[in-house]
Amino acid sequence: MKWKVFVLCIILVLAVFAAGKFSTTTIGGVATGYVPVFTVVGDVEKPLKVDTLEGFERIKEIVVVSGAASPDNGMGIISPTENIGYMTAGRLYAGIRLNFPVFEGKSSVENDGKTYGVSIYTQRRMVDLKTVIEEKHGNLLIMGRNGEYRRVKNDGYLEIGDNTIDYVCPDLKNRVADLAGIMVDPPVGSIMDAYYDTLHFLENDKNVMLIILDGFGYHQYLYAVEAGHANFLASLPPANMATSVYRPVTNAGLAAMYTGKPPEENGVNSRKQKDIKTPTVFNDALVMNKKCAMVEGDIKILNTSLEPRLNVDKNSNGITDDEILETALEYVNGDYNLLVVHFHGIDDSGHSYGDIHPSTMEAVSRTDGYVKELVSRWKGKVVITADHGMHSTPEAGDHGSFCFEDLIVPYIITDGEGRK
Ligand SMILES: [Zn+2]
Ligand SMILES: [Zn+2]
Repeated sequence: MKWKVFVLCIILVLAVFAAGKFSTTTIGGVATGYVPVFTVVGDVEKPLKVDTLEGFERIKEIVVVSGAASPDNGMGIISPTENIGYMTAGRLYAGIRLNFPVFEGKSSVENDGKTYGVSIYTQRRMVDLKTVIEEKHGNLLIMGRNGEYRRVKNDGYLEIGDNTIDYVCPDLKNRVADLAGIMVDPPVGSIMDAYYDTLHFLENDKNVMLIILDGFGYHQYLYAVEAGHANFLASLPPANMATSVYRPVTNAGLAAMYTGKPPEENGVNSRKQKDIKTPTVFNDALVMNKKCAMVEGDIKILNTSLEPRLNVDKNSNGITDDEILETALEYVNGDYNLLVVHFHGIDDSGHSYGDIHPSTMEAVSRTDGYVKELVSRWKGKVVITADHGMHSTPEAGDHGSFCFEDLIVPYIITDGEGRK
């Protein structure tokens, strides 16, 4: 290694500390002959300023790659049961030589009765999706950071955007910008089914109770059933897997369930939004002259046409779920056609202790009892699901990331009274 290159290495390594972003910098003139690509793994706070360096004509490009890829600074590749890996734009760029000639059109001129034509290609920083995701995974679910939710075949391309990875459709035109991740072999169900199932039952003159267990991932369900913390849920037919939406947080999850639409369409893709852009199941139920109620905790999460009945921790035992149950039972005994009951205790405990911590399993067990009481009294159909799941963190638990623990939840349909 020549001394100048060595000095450049030192400069770059010094620059790669703090948390950072990927950037590419082209230095020097257009090199002739051998053009090495210089890759540095680390983190940089700001794009490197190396354009004043001289004497590096033989280096065409410097790629600075984030040292750690995580669900929050890159694109995830997961299955419903495993987090396969995370990739940043820089890693993708450095790992694969991306020079994809894309046909843009033809141009021709007439001269002396002859036509001279030329085809125009541009070089795009793009890679065939199959080079990243094995061909055996034929069905994929793509989620974008803007709340896009697309089921696609394993074809198309990944393109490096401005420090993002975009999915480009096989037609090379349509795209999902800034991928949060790709789920391989996704389950057919999603929490958006809650909207369609509810509507279907109401249209068939069946009453529906939608029970939402906040922050209860499918892996927690399996664990709880196996370990005897959810005896009532275990007595029901096994839950199906359903996907949540991105970001897997309460607002986005509830809006997806109430509208049947992904966040991209209903406008709720994070904890920031409360207003829903598309009609909800409550609007539809009103048109059908159905009587609806929603039993919530102490905070109104979304602005819906149906005002939620809020519940505070009256007995100061640290949870509102017991008050929620009490209120829900009032409605169960009334003549309601649609009743939404949203329990919060599993999520609260998951944040405080972790997704499968004994304290969280205690919350699961308590909630399981509440669900049993409601289901045994309800006359009609019951849908039991969750807005999102919960993953372990070094401290406790959290959700909102592109990982299977947050994105796969249980989905159960059962009957109320007369179930046995
Ligand atoms: Zn939630
Ligand atoms: Zn939460």
